[in-house]
Amino acid sequence: MRKGRLFVDFLLEKPRPKRKTEGCVVGMDSNYVNGLVFSDGQQVGHELVETVRKFSKRKKRTHAEIKSRIDQAMKQIDFSGIRVLVIENLKHVKRGKRGTFSRTHNRRLSHWQYAYAVDLLQRYYEEHGVRLERKNPAYTSQYCHKCRRWDRRNRSGDRFRCMHCGYTAHADRNAAYNLELLGLAGVYGLRSLPNSELQRFE
Ligand SMILES: [Zn+2]
Repeated sequence: MRKGRLFVDFLLEKPRPKRKTEGCVVGMDSNYVNGLVFSDGQQVGHELVETVRKFSKRKKRTHAEIKSRIDQAMKQIDFSGIRVLVIENLKHVKRGKRGTFSRTHNRRLSHWQYAYAVDLLQRYYEEHGVRLERKNPAYTSQYCHKCRRWDRRNRSGDRFRCMHCGYTAHADRNAAYNLELLGLAGVYGLRSLPNSELQRFE
């Protein structure tokens, strides 16, 4: 009882399915414009941006509506071939050099939208026996997953073009590949990859 109101918590326990032992390690990059981009070729939620923009003009029920859109996007993901999903660690997301709203940050889902999406994902994936791993996203937009070299100039807006080997891809796709790389190598950040060039920049 608090201030004359009664609050009741219900805890429902569901049997947790066994962790999958077969399937792929897949990376997932997220941003405000392109939604969720997976290293296995999937992309969902890119229509979210327009919706969110429209919603944020009128304040009422905005959160509920955006949530339901995120729910819908999540349901489109085919996770049948995924054993481990590698995502960026949320605690790094807002960290920008010059503080508040960097360009990168503006392109991302807002903090709560991303947190909500990850929360949902975690639930879906647990239900299907898929493990979620969080990694440091630093340099994932500039590092070439093909030749494993890093160059600040590799990234230009949505395009990724490697200065060393010429590999080109959508920038988010390359970032998703890098997250996959971290998952496969079992390390937290690109700097910790064996023989990573990035160790020099520590
Ligand atoms: Zn390259």
